[in-house]
Amino acid sequence: MAAKEVDLFVVGAGSGGVRAARIAAQHGAKVMMAEEYRVGGTCVIRGCVPKKLFVYAGRFAHDLEDMAGFGWRVSEAEFDWLTLVANKDKEISRLEAIYRRNAEAAGVEVVSSRAVVTGPNSVRILSTGEEIRAKYILLATGAHPALGPDIPGCDLAITSNEAFSLTHFPDRILIQGAGYIAVEFAGLFRALGAEVTLVYRGDHILRGFDGDVRAHLETEMERAGIRLMAGRTLSSIETIPGGKRVVLSDGAAVEVDDVMLAIGRIPNTRNLGLGEVGVALDPVGAVVVDAHGRTSVPSIYAVGDITNRVNLTPVAIREGHAFADTVFGNKPWTVDHSLIATAVFSEPEIGTVGLTEEAARALGRPVDIYKTAFRPLKATLSGRETRTFMKLVVDVETDRVLGCHIMGDGASEMIQLAAVALGLKATKADFDRTVAVHPTSAEELVTLRTPTPSA
Ligand code: NDP
Repeated sequence: MAAKEVDLFVVGAGSGGVRAARIAAQHGAKVMMAEEYRVGGTCVIRGCVPKKLFVYAGRFAHDLEDMAGFGWRVSEAEFDWLTLVANKDKEISRLEAIYRRNAEAAGVEVVSSRAVVTGPNSVRILSTGEEIRAKYILLATGAHPALGPDIPGCDLAITSNEAFSLTHFPDRILIQGAGYIAVEFAGLFRALGAEVTLVYRGDHILRGFDGDVRAHLETEMERAGIRLMAGRTLSSIETIPGGKRVVLSDGAAVEVDDVMLAIGRIPNTRNLGLGEVGVALDPVGAVVVDAHGRTSVPSIYAVGDITNRVNLTPVAIREGHAFADTVFGNKPWTVDHSLIATAVFSEPEIGTVGLTEEAARALGRPVDIYKTAFRPLKATLSGRETRTFMKLVVDVETDRVLGCHIMGDGASEMIQLAAVALGLKATKADFDRTVAVHPTSAEELVTLRTPTPSA
């Protein structure tokens, strides 16, 4: 029997894969997409979406504390972790079904199986052994949590994958890492009432973020009662009655219920047949691609976290869209990976776009720094000890705003619009010319008058 033939075979039905499959099908391509786990990928199933739902859950605890200052008398409130997990699961299943339905409605054939590449134009569906001939293959298999070095007891630790479905609430949790996932989970577990210890190898959290933002978030995390243990790694984990004992590289021991590793993610390129077909990988195992997402094998493309460029959902979606338009829509375009806004859903949250002060200075540009830290209006009556922080990095020669960094309530929403302004090459004068919206926190961004004297 002749092998089935398609125009495009997509391996992996996450954000990037689904978008590429759908748009290619809309351009008239015959598309097949294989997914070994659940349609929707990391973002929908065990990443951005469930994380944000958990963040919301934690914020109700803050609201309950804040209400008293506004005249509300709140009787004892009780949080039930299993209800949260069950409701989150229900929502994720709903979203998964929508993702699948949208792909199928566009004409994509979705196969529930692992698939491996067997040649420049062929793929095998492992559940059936069927070989599919494909004019093009798109690799969109994402990444998985790194497990770090093989220390004694490392199998006792969980990652974000398991944290979303714990059958008990972790009353005492140690999280290793200081990137997006570590600080987000530290914040949400703390807000939900856990005792949280954050252990990280560097001197500060969130490497790569603006130095002031990092420092301000550390202050806020400590104020919230999170124990920060810098300059350390994990040496061993053992089970003890009632929990786990973690020994750190400096000999300190911490007793907790759960240990979570959030130390980066590794591209899913193993056992996909890529080596045999000649798809080039970089030293960390990510697929090497050109600006159009094309790999070293011209008929094979890759998008999203498997390429380890900017590992964010909206970026993977754009890369998938650009691929489909370019290859099947006769509309070639590429994704601009500069000036991508991002949010960290820590407590408080961070929104950032453009250059950090450190990066701007490293380019040798004279920059003016405008920054402010203030108590948000809501905190005056709630009595919550917290500061909102905002910072603009401005090119002295051109007056262009090169970077905008916000930490505080609503930072993720504000930064989306700041990104539009920076994308339009807004100058500090443009910000100043904009009439403030009052009373908001965002108004501070257009009323920053005096640069901070350089140290
Ligand atoms: P990150 O790359 O953000 O952070 C990894 C952390 O692990 C860093 O603190 C790093 O330390 C540390 N680390 C790495 N290797 C080791 C090691 N061997 N031992 C000890 N510590 C180590 O990764 P995450 O896992 O937090 O998140 C993965 C990616 O997912 C993010 O980069 C982001 O792109 C995406 N993401 C985005 C979110 C959002 O948009 N809100 C939310 C969650 C994830 P050091 O700094 O010293 O290198």
